[in-house]
Amino acid sequence: MKTRLGLDIGGTTVHGVAVSADTHDVIGDQITHTTRRGADGVVASAVDMIAALEAALPDGHEVVGVGLGVPGIVHDGSVTHAVNLGLDHVPLDLAGHVSQRVADVPVTVENDVKTATLGGLKWLREQGSTVDDLALLNVGTGLAAGFLLDGRLRHGSRGMAGEIGHLVHDPAGPVCPCGRRGCLELYASGSGLRRQWDGTAAELFTAAETDPDAARIRDQLTAGIAKAISLLAYGLDVSYVLVTGGVVSATPALRDAILTDLRSDEGTSLGRLAAIADRVRWLPSDYPAGALGAALLGTPDAPAPEGTAWRS
Ligand SMILES: [Zn+2]
Repeated sequence: MKTRLGLDIGGTTVHGVAVSADTHDVIGDQITHTTRRGADGVVASAVDMIAALEAALPDGHEVVGVGLGVPGIVHDGSVTHAVNLGLDHVPLDLAGHVSQRVADVPVTVENDVKTATLGGLKWLREQGSTVDDLALLNVGTGLAAGFLLDGRLRHGSRGMAGEIGHLVHDPAGPVCPCGRRGCLELYASGSGLRRQWDGTAAELFTAAETDPDAARIRDQLTAGIAKAISLLAYGLDVSYVLVTGGVVSATPALRDAILTDLRSDEGTSLGRLAAIADRVRWLPSDYPAGALGAALLGTPDAPAPEGTAWRS
């Protein structure tokens, strides 16, 4: 049986899955390893996970493709800006390095939020949806989105499609690590929350009932995520905006507040027509969208971008 392997290489863990190349059904269990940082570490992490996935396959399975999702900008075959992998300053030809170390199958690399978007399409299909357009908003350490438009994953002219976290939200705000002031992800992300609040988002929502400072942080977090969802919905008029990330998954009160914020836009005829709150879906936190989407890189929904390499 033809099989595809997908790896989601995060800053702390690597998740790996195998799927049928024909049905896209998952084969066996998800495997989790600890990520090793730096160029050599990331390559070794990928190679070890591929070996572990292959070793767990039942007899008769032939690997026909390997996809890697990484938290960085992937373009022209190289990974850059992958700070969480310790690859900040040196572009890494990850597809090339991994393809030299595994059996000769194509190895494709893509940004992890984009692979999660492809995994999000698989989840929507499992819910019975037949749509072929969606945006995924990842409220993680940072804030970034991916797009699947007319059935195709959007890579972008420079691999930067969906990098919306550094849109300036408040020009008078604090300085962001990117050098600008008041970027959206300083307010609407896991790191943005930690920057301002010593506790969980759920604790923030409780404290905000009596503490004006907590209420301000809560309102900026809520409004920032709602603004990002609106940006995706108005910009591309996608059928669904899937929202994922630990802060959102762990905090029902935040999800309710985001929907209330979005519904406040429905007092106008344009807002009612847009009905953005109705497009929001919360991707379950235990759904391995990143690894599943990575496994599907190179399929018709996600033609292989330029980061694909074969062993020569
Ligand atoms: Zn920034």
